[in-house]
Amino acid sequence: MHLSQRFVAALLACTLALQPVAADELPELGDAASNDLSLSTEKKIGQQIMHEIRWREPSYLDDADVEAYLNQLGGRLAAVSNDPGFGFYFFPINDQNINAFAMPGGYIGVHAGLIVSAQTESELAGVLAHEISHVTQRHIARQVFQSKQIGMASMVAMALALLAARSSGQMAGAAIASTQAGAISAQLAFSRDFEREADRQGFDILGKAGFDVRGMGVFFERLQKSVRLYENNATAYLRTHPLTGERLTDMQNREQAVPYRQVADSVDFQLVRAKVRAMQGTPVDAVKDMAGLLRERKFASEAAIRYGLAFALYRNRDWLGAEREIESIRRLKVSAPMLEHLRADIRIAQGDPAGGLTIYRDAMVRFPLNHGLLYGYGAALLGARRYDEALRFVEGRLGTTPDDVRLHKMRAESYAGLGKQAMQHRALAEVFALLIEVKSCL
Ligand SMILES: [Zn+2]
Repeated sequence: MHLSQRFVAALLACTLALQPVAADELPELGDAASNDLSLSTEKKIGQQIMHEIRWREPSYLDDADVEAYLNQLGGRLAAVSNDPGFGFYFFPINDQNINAFAMPGGYIGVHAGLIVSAQTESELAGVLAHEISHVTQRHIARQVFQSKQIGMASMVAMALALLAARSSGQMAGAAIASTQAGAISAQLAFSRDFEREADRQGFDILGKAGFDVRGMGVFFERLQKSVRLYENNATAYLRTHPLTGERLTDMQNREQAVPYRQVADSVDFQLVRAKVRAMQGTPVDAVKDMAGLLRERKFASEAAIRYGLAFALYRNRDWLGAEREIESIRRLKVSAPMLEHLRADIRIAQGDPAGGLTIYRDAMVRFPLNHGLLYGYGAALLGARRYDEALRFVEGRLGTTPDDVRLHKMRAESYAGLGKQAMQHRALAEVFALLIEVKSCL
């Protein structure tokens, strides 16, 4: 498997040592407050798993636009949860199964299949709000500490094994891997009480954040229907979040108490959905898929489908075709950081790095908070071998976001480009600082 055995062993020893202290002081259900030690332990375990995923997990979807969007949406939801300061991190997983999973410490994985199958932004927000609630209510920690059959140590091992099993893409290994993953995720399924609590709190979050509260129920119902009709991509989520008739009835009852309001999807949601869809399959297949949607006019947003087509054409190295689609979106009077990001990358691919960097700089003035643009600009500077400029840019950004792993990685790459190996190693050590911190507890 892809996850280091030695790492798991080190973590097991570490968590076993910490476990007895935390186990005595479990909060009651519904009481989100918890002792500091168990929370900090949970956070450290989450950080470790996140590091493993980011650096070693093949299904981790390393896309700055998608990750930036998920964190923007998730951040908006977490801000109105009952623990706004918890500190969440959302990341995409390139897997067509419809799933989202909360890991210890507020790290929430979102499958590509979930992003593509959500029909509205409120549906996606509904699933995220539910996951956020599992975290703020400390369900993972409480379930693990309370459970007689699994301890925190085996929880970490299982979480890693689950990801390892899931990441095996080969058909030959897939059957064994999915059986393993199935058995593990069945053990990780939340209890009915936890599900009910996450539904209730997720519903409140959804409403407070300004989304359509029906999004959650509509999505779960559609998931359940599609599972009943045929065995398909929808089962992954239901395995870890068992959906009962009672849960659906509860959701409908809550919805009835709230007056209907229509909520428009954000442009970013539509663009991210189109991009994730256009990432699938070979570049040629992706072009055919997006062109087909456009031809049959099967879309909620023409601009988003044209953007998906532009991205598929870019993947297919058809720079002129991609540029043409981007221009047609500009004529639709749609503006978004992701459009500028792709426009800049197309310009660079055409052999005009200076032109591409200018597009980035202008876009960063218009959308200063967009992380997709920041990472894209940093990568473009490195690609153009402007290592000095890249270093200055990255270090400036690290001043405001010192924990940003992508920026640390770019800093190490800048040093490598400048031939400063000692500095490169020091920068890399900073990326792995968290890893070292936890291992030192052995
Ligand atoms: Zn759940």
